[in-house]
Amino acid sequence: MRSAIENSVVILGAGIAGISAAYHLRKAGISAAVYEANATAGGLLDNFCIEGFRFDNAVHLSFATEPEVRAVFDRTPYLTHPAVSWCWDDGLWLKHPVQNNMFPIEVAQRVELISGFVARPNIEVKNYRDWLNYQYGEAIASRWSLPYTEKYWTVPAEQLGIGWIGDRVRRADLQEVLYGAFTSETPSYYYVSEMRYPCAGGYRAFIEPMIAEVDIHCQHRVTGISLSRRHVYFDNDRSTGFDVLINTLPLPELIALIDEVPEQVRTAAGTLFATSVDLISVGFRKADVQPNLWFYIYDNDILAARAYSPSIKSPENVPAGCSSLQFEIYSSQRKPQTHTPEEMKRNTMMGLQKMGMVKDEDDVLFMHHKKLEWGNVVFDLGMEERRAIVRDWLETVGILTAGRFGEWDYLWSNQAFMSGLRAAEAVKLRGVGQ
Ligand SMILES: Cc1cc2nc3c(=O)[nH]c(=O)nc-3n(C[C@H](O)[C@H](O)[C@H](O)COP(=O)(O)OP(=O)(O)OC[C@H]3O[C@@H](n4cnc5c(N)ncnc54)[C@H](O)[C@@H]3O)c2cc1C
Repeated sequence: MRSAIENSVVILGAGIAGISAAYHLRKAGISAAVYEANATAGGLLDNFCIEGFRFDNAVHLSFATEPEVRAVFDRTPYLTHPAVSWCWDDGLWLKHPVQNNMFPIEVAQRVELISGFVARPNIEVKNYRDWLNYQYGEAIASRWSLPYTEKYWTVPAEQLGIGWIGDRVRRADLQEVLYGAFTSETPSYYYVSEMRYPCAGGYRAFIEPMIAEVDIHCQHRVTGISLSRRHVYFDNDRSTGFDVLINTLPLPELIALIDEVPEQVRTAAGTLFATSVDLISVGFRKADVQPNLWFYIYDNDILAARAYSPSIKSPENVPAGCSSLQFEIYSSQRKPQTHTPEEMKRNTMMGLQKMGMVKDEDDVLFMHHKKLEWGNVVFDLGMEERRAIVRDWLETVGILTAGRFGEWDYLWSNQAFMSGLRAAEAVKLRGVGQ
């Protein structure tokens, strides 16, 4: 027998977007109930501990500039790191971005790469492959960007649009390319100058002040939504009514849960896909196993596209005298994961040895595998139009949708926070709770 509750505002998902929506509603005197499938709140910003080592769910550093976000995040004491990252490429460490830091590369190759850059084609840009060739020239694009795109985005660059790029990928500039080809003393070209991370408690500590103030019901996985009855059903035989629904669940998942959806919307939602991330978390019995906060891996025989050091983010993440790394391996419905967790661990160990980080396997205390089903929204060609069909319909039935997977966009945590805030503003405009 189901037990029904009545809530005026119901929020699905207790990641930063759902929590921010509830928090900002509460500040406006409107109560809202947040329902979360997991046993703890935080979504992607949650963390887990193994043998005294703490790991976030993938890299997670903050570069928030919005005053609203800083007003919450800055209540937690934090460490500041310079935004400098490195790239491992076939035996070489190159500073990021590679095209601006080619000094360590053998001279003949440098000449070829720069010649390709100078002769880059002036083409009409229709997809990400065109964009890369146009920006960097074919030699640089083929050596780094194109294979890396398949590793990280799981699709060839010609299948990706360019709407997601923004300032995430550095535009090439002849002066910068030449400078970095003549000297290793280059400035950081990363689009932010510093990264912040809580002194203690993992990245989630930044949102703890909000978690403490909102009404979250964990272990409530949504299994159905009736629009006509204005009701949400959970996997624990409970259900709740709602006047206003804010969704932060992934759009394809949400649409599959709703009872009455036009075929065209269902079809459009079914085409949206994101990458999944297999995380291999490694604990080392020695300190300083390597010096980089985070780094990209270009070698194809190493499955991971990227890795970062939790122990550099904060020493509080590891027991004294130890260090840690976490590797990210990407897959999707277009490039399904064919490796078992054990194979991924063995491959990571091979990579650690290849990159010179581990000589003796005994230095490794443990390797742990965890899969994040929803990682990065993939901007395959035409995705924005198909997404609009879904978002427009949700608007017509009065469902507000927020967050990385609710908006179906490439949002950082600060942007997901702002997305939740905007959903709260929209509820206020509807006059709910007044
Ligand atoms: C690999 C990677 C690295 C990143 N690095 C950074 C970084 O360095 N800095 C940064 O600012 N941002 C980073 N981000 C982005 C950041 O993680 C997101 O912007 C943010 O966490 C999204 O929050 P959200 O609330 O929108 O989604 P989520 O955190 O995914 O929250 C959605 C919630 O809905 C719940 N849910 C799903 N289905 C159901 C259901 N059926 N019933 C009930 N609950 C359900 C989920 O369990 C989850 O808790 C990174 C993301 C990834 C994937």
